[in-house]
Amino acid sequence: MPPAHPFDDDKLREECGIFGVLGVQDAANFVALGLHALQHRGQEAGGIVSHDSEQGFNSARRFGYVRDNFTSTDIMQTLPGPLAIGHVRYSTAGSKTAAIRDVQPFFGEFSMGGAAIAHNGNITNANALRRELIERGSIFQSSSDSECIIHLMARSLQRDIPARMEDALRRVEGAFSVVAMTRTKLIGVRDALGVRPLVLGRIGDGWVLSSETCALDIIGAEFVREIEPGEMVVISQETGVESRRPFRQRKSRFCIFEQVYFSRPDSILGGRSVYETRRQIGVELAREAPVEADLVCPVPDSGTPAAIGFAHESGIPYGMGIIRNQYMGRTFIEPTEQIRNMGVRLKLNVNRALIRGKRVILVDDSVVRGTTSRKIKEMILDAGAAEVHFRIASPPTAWPCFYGVDTPQREKLLAANMSEEEMREFLGVDSLKFISLDGLYRAAGEAQGRDNACPQFCDACFSGEYPVEPADMIEKGFKLKTAAE
Ligand code: SF4
Repeated sequence: MPPAHPFDDDKLREECGIFGVLGVQDAANFVALGLHALQHRGQEAGGIVSHDSEQGFNSARRFGYVRDNFTSTDIMQTLPGPLAIGHVRYSTAGSKTAAIRDVQPFFGEFSMGGAAIAHNGNITNANALRRELIERGSIFQSSSDSECIIHLMARSLQRDIPARMEDALRRVEGAFSVVAMTRTKLIGVRDALGVRPLVLGRIGDGWVLSSETCALDIIGAEFVREIEPGEMVVISQETGVESRRPFRQRKSRFCIFEQVYFSRPDSILGGRSVYETRRQIGVELAREAPVEADLVCPVPDSGTPAAIGFAHESGIPYGMGIIRNQYMGRTFIEPTEQIRNMGVRLKLNVNRALIRGKRVILVDDSVVRGTTSRKIKEMILDAGAAEVHFRIASPPTAWPCFYGVDTPQREKLLAANMSEEEMREFLGVDSLKFISLDGLYRAAGEAQGRDNACPQFCDACFSGEYPVEPADMIEKGFKLKTAAE
């Protein structure tokens, strides 16, 4: 298993990317390329399952990057056939020492044939389901909550696999986008709130399902549409795309952090370019929190579009005051506290000639623990900046995510423990401002801002308002927001 990046624990991390292809020769090769384009959604491990009429189901699951495993002819030759799905993942906070058996896709053999399933999100009642299933005789092979879906499918009395999957997913709470396959069908599902993304694409006579549109581009597939919240698509070569509605209809609550950080800027979400939304966040931020300064710099790469928007709106020149080492890749160093501090310097360096003597606005996507922000501020001051002003392209992250994003415990989130002024002092900067929730909603296309009675997105990590009760976490002692907070 590759070691974690020592500086990446100061970001929220999306835990999974999923991809599936039906109806092309050697579909697994296309899945490998798709997973490579989704690598930002999970870098710890990846897996592919394929089906071939002669050889049946085959699978390969490996720790490490897609490019280090699924480019090898030895591996790809073991994954023949016109139908394949794949998954990339991070470990969750509780399972840093994941075993290969936790790497998806998971496979189940049923009386009517086999099925493989890959899941992005988090099942919030997984503990209760697991207990119930074990009591009734299920034997789990992994610690992953996603395996519950396979066991629930095994217990369903429905006659075909898609119907069994409908049964299983009706028992599941939380956020899930699923890509699954039988011997002949590719299946995609989004939970009723549509918290995590999933899109449909077309390649020649074949079909593609992907977490993001950027992964359609890499294989030359055409974007068809998003899978709608609460929709299941069952795709076969003979009948094309059949749309089903297994869940009670609810108003969608897409993850707004996908807009801020998780998704790639070259993806399209909800009909809008992620890059444009991020640039617009910078525009809103400049309107909400102006400051006199000489230079607007992004914290690369994720702060770049918002910094461009901020500079444009404020009229303050934009410059690359921080340069990212593109070849950092993974490190062999264990993430001790000391190395964690060094880690920022391994990844980022200050463009001294540009910074010296200037009042600098640094635009970053988020502040989680604040350790990286402090280090960057020190580097900028060491380089001779006259003032440092932080502008953050998301509201204060004060609550953990329980919907498929690796978040530190609440106590470790800077904004859970400090006011904005206390955070400014802690970071040691001249000013610190976060975009408001309303500003973020406006940038994401909601002209009237957030509808507080019925929010248009999931924003629980900012607001503490969880659209699906995190039952497992409440059982473990997590306290929901009180009326007084
Ligand atoms: S809690 Fe935050 S990161 Fe998690 S799904 Fe909601 S908006 Fe996204």
